[in-house]
Amino acid sequence: MPELPEVEITARGLRARILGSRVAAAGAMDWPPMLPNAAPEHLEATVRGRTVQTVDRRGKYLLMGLEGDCWLVVHRKMSGNLLLHEAGDAPAPHTHFALRFEGGAELHFVDPRKFGRVYLFESRARLDAFLSDRLGLEPLADLTARRLTAHIRGRRGRLKSLLLNQRFLAGIGNIYADEILWEARLHPERAADSLTPPERVRLLHAARGILEAAIERRGTTFAGYVDETGARGENQQHLRAYGRTGLPCLRCGRPIQRIVIAQRGTWFCPRCQKRGGTSPGRR
Ligand SMILES: [Zn+2]
Repeated sequence: MPELPEVEITARGLRARILGSRVAAAGAMDWPPMLPNAAPEHLEATVRGRTVQTVDRRGKYLLMGLEGDCWLVVHRKMSGNLLLHEAGDAPAPHTHFALRFEGGAELHFVDPRKFGRVYLFESRARLDAFLSDRLGLEPLADLTARRLTAHIRGRRGRLKSLLLNQRFLAGIGNIYADEILWEARLHPERAADSLTPPERVRLLHAARGILEAAIERRGTTFAGYVDETGARGENQQHLRAYGRTGLPCLRCGRPIQRIVIAQRGTWFCPRCQKRGGTSPGRR
């Protein structure tokens, strides 16, 4: 599933290419569950003729701001990709939403598994209410040691589950949760409120470092994530925990273990990420 870095890469790529473009038409809306809050005809009539003024990201949501306080919001879920095409290119199989811009470019939402969603909001206030119901702190914008401490207080859940909780930190999924915990040398089943202050600082720095490095590498491509031009990311070549069952830990050489937490495969190093915590400074 595209996580924060993959959505950020797509937002940056689209920003460079579609800002200032006017929507000529919306179409290919053949899968009603993909539009949970607007009928296709209403969405088409509402966005047609409006210019794209902003392209941003919040958590795993891509936010397109259209003139007149109108917002198109895309969540790619498991398999969705947003691809820019030239006019007249035949849509790829599994295209379930498309925007055509004046001048010819087209933005196609291609989603084989059809879990992706496209929302329409007709004011920033409605968009903000939707997002604030669902999302907590932005790891790269809002996260400070003080805020992390305040947010983690009283959370008895396991660290892995907490990192996956979008209302806690927005944008982290299964891949980056495992990578962050490996980097921070924290066991995924640790109770969140048992972290010492140095461990919380390690978690904070690991979250920022892992996500920023993944953005620099243009995301992680496994099943199908590609950017708006169809290019794959490179971060899959740099993973140190996720998916590495039995391979040596790149820090200590012990085989990486896989366990299941909240029905999600979870990879960690049993030596570097001890259940009882690690002493400060230990590598
Ligand atoms: Zn290790």
